Amino acid sequence: MGLLEGHRAIVTGGASGIGAATARRFAAEGAVVSILDLDGEAARSVAEEVGGHAFEVNVAGTDAVIDATHQAAAAMGGLTDVFNNAGVGNLKALASYSEKEWDLLVDVNLKGVFNGMKAALPLLVDGGGSIVNMASVSGIRPTRGEAPYAAAKAGVIALSQSAALEYGPTVRVNTVSPGFIHTPLTDFTLQEPDYREPLEARTPLGRAGTPDDVADVVVFLCSDLARYVTGHNLVVDGGSMLPSAQVDHVLGSLLRVLGEG
Ligand code: NAD
Repeated sequence: MGLLEGHRAIVTGGASGIGAATARRFAAEGAVVSILDLDGEAARSVAEEVGGHAFEVNVAGTDAVIDATHQAAAAMGGLTDVFNNAGVGNLKALASYSEKEWDLLVDVNLKGVFNGMKAALPLLVDGGGSIVNMASVSGIRPTRGEAPYAAAKAGVIALSQSAALEYGPTVRVNTVSPGFIHTPLTDFTLQEPDYREPLEARTPLGRAGTPDDVADVVVFLCSDLARYVTGHNLVVDGGSMLPSAQVDHVLGSLLRVLGEG
């Protein structure tokens, strides 16, 4: 018996990367899945693969998300879990971001999560359920070039903790904060050895993450194994936030000189 037998789950941004991997893992664990994505064709393709449903929708539109969530719940015969995962990135110096670029990053990454929860919570409160929202290590530690994205992801963590407080005991709300995961969003970086090799060397677990590394954690958070976990931000980064930027390099070199490293 799967960990999510009887569950009926929405995955936003489920047409690609981490969302598609999670849709597949949800289905493999027994859940019925609906994919909400801007890319309708890719969403239909993943939905067909997992025997689920696809809805073409922009998560930044409140009414459209409410409508698609109701349609998905009707198609699945109910709703028990939502993974608000859809997101977009960008890279430039803070003062170079235009208003339009700021609006896109905040509308998709933060307002999209608000929309997903606003739509789903009234459907979940009676029967109970689990919401997992996509944040990022960038929302906890500053990353160069990603200021609006980082601010939106930090907002996702705060928004989710407020929701966890308001909607217990019936609904659990958690976030996942991945480190560097190999998806279409990041592929260009990992193709380049000059970027990939130091990234791997500085990650205690020795590699970039895979979409399945995150999907398995989302399955856990939606399953009964996490029945006493709410308001938590689960970091999935291979330990990449552990090294101290100030002393790790120095102490690592000293250990090697001492023949201990
Ligand atoms: P991806 O580009 O492979 O997938 C993103 C999906 O979201 C796509 O299917 C895209 O069509 C969909 N999407 C984008 N804008 C949308 C919108 N307005 N409405 C509906 N759907 C939309 O990216 P990914 O790497 O799988 O990222 C998924 C999530 O994980 C994002 O929120 C991202 O910020 C977050 N994340 C990724 C990493 C990483 O290293 N890849 C790290 C931390 C957090």
